[in-house]
Amino acid sequence: MGEQAVRGSEPRAPELDIPRLARGAGYGGRRRKKGFVEGFRVLTLLYRIDELPAGAFQRLVELFKVYRAVGALFFWSKRLNIEEGVGLALERAKLLPSYYRHAFDERSQVYQFSEVEKMKRPRKVILQLPLADALHYHCGAYIEGGKLVVRLGNRERLELPFPERALKWLQEKEREVAPLKVTKIARIQWREDKRPEYLKVQIVLRVERRKPVMPDPKSALLCYVDANSDYGIVAVYAVSDGSETKVLETPKLKPPNRSKRLKAAAKRQAAAAYGHKRGVNLALARLSKRFRARGWVKTAAAQIFKKAFQRASGRSVIMNFDIPDPESVKGSYLQKTLLSLRKVAENLAKWFGVYATFECYPSTKCPFCGAELEIVHTRRTRIAYCTRCGFYDDRDFVPFYHWCKALNLPLPKRPLQRIELPEELRRRLNSVRPGSPG
Ligand SMILES: [Zn+2]
Repeated sequence: MGEQAVRGSEPRAPELDIPRLARGAGYGGRRRKKGFVEGFRVLTLLYRIDELPAGAFQRLVELFKVYRAVGALFFWSKRLNIEEGVGLALERAKLLPSYYRHAFDERSQVYQFSEVEKMKRPRKVILQLPLADALHYHCGAYIEGGKLVVRLGNRERLELPFPERALKWLQEKEREVAPLKVTKIARIQWREDKRPEYLKVQIVLRVERRKPVMPDPKSALLCYVDANSDYGIVAVYAVSDGSETKVLETPKLKPPNRSKRLKAAAKRQAAAAYGHKRGVNLALARLSKRFRARGWVKTAAAQIFKKAFQRASGRSVIMNFDIPDPESVKGSYLQKTLLSLRKVAENLAKWFGVYATFECYPSTKCPFCGAELEIVHTRRTRIAYCTRCGFYDDRDFVPFYHWCKALNLPLPKRPLQRIELPEELRRRLNSVRPGSPG
């Protein structure tokens, strides 16, 4: 094609699979079909702007200036229903390379204005381009020979190294949802304030599928995820044939040690206060303070889904995520982090096509007799027990019993996992229900 190539620097380590929806505009795209859902996976690559080939970033900035002016005219004309304005914007869009004009084409997957009536004014600097695996006339970006190529117009192009690991990740994600087809978008953005440090390039994978319907609980793998725990996230995997509910596994996922991270952050802050690499140290302090916790939730959610598919071995999957409502968790650091699990899990469920609900079930009510449960803390567990019928189990598992009831399934054998009962409690429960445990 004889385009001019400028080669960029190696990216910082890629951040894989961090689905985060952009404020306001979401990922754009056509208006979603009724009865369909869409799931996303996102790959983020950061390239140092000062290491980009000379002139490449300036070219992007110029492109964006034109794009933004056209976009603003289009946005407000649409919003205010001024047809002439829309026409004018489309006329002006001809100043842009052809593949950037897809942003204004309602049929395109990078259409940016499908929810123009309710979307907030987009604030970030974003160029979105359809991405193909190889050069295609309609596409502004493509991956080829270990490079991500971004076309800049005027026969120029920006070549960015595309790590092997990132390519593998993309292929793996595509396989996950096969035979459904994944559409890909390259988003290119930078901070508009001061001097931006990084060029952020995201590859957004999107899959559209029919909204999953609820499978028969008697032939599905059941997965209950409780984020209500003080511990972190607790999952219960089970199967039921309608006459017996068998628990397969009850993993507990614990977030990284917070006090350790806070100590590291304090050290960085102190270094910054001495003026030692101030910017870097402050940034790192911020990172170790909040960034990782969210990242942990994402990793944990991905693990929970992965295990569900392993345990399902071909069966359909029903999941319930028990996540506290935001009002009830003021002040608790861990709990606030756990709230982000809802968004992450919703997206993964749509990506994989899993039927998932987000209902809370009681953890303080006896699933057998309905009495209020009491709690005793041991070194390892919080044991919930019933003084009326003698039921006891790890408090984190109690909601799972209630879910089984709601699904019309028999309750599992209790306790779900072996529990060492304190001697006094054992005696007390024995006296409630002579002959039972112990
Ligand atoms: Zn009871």
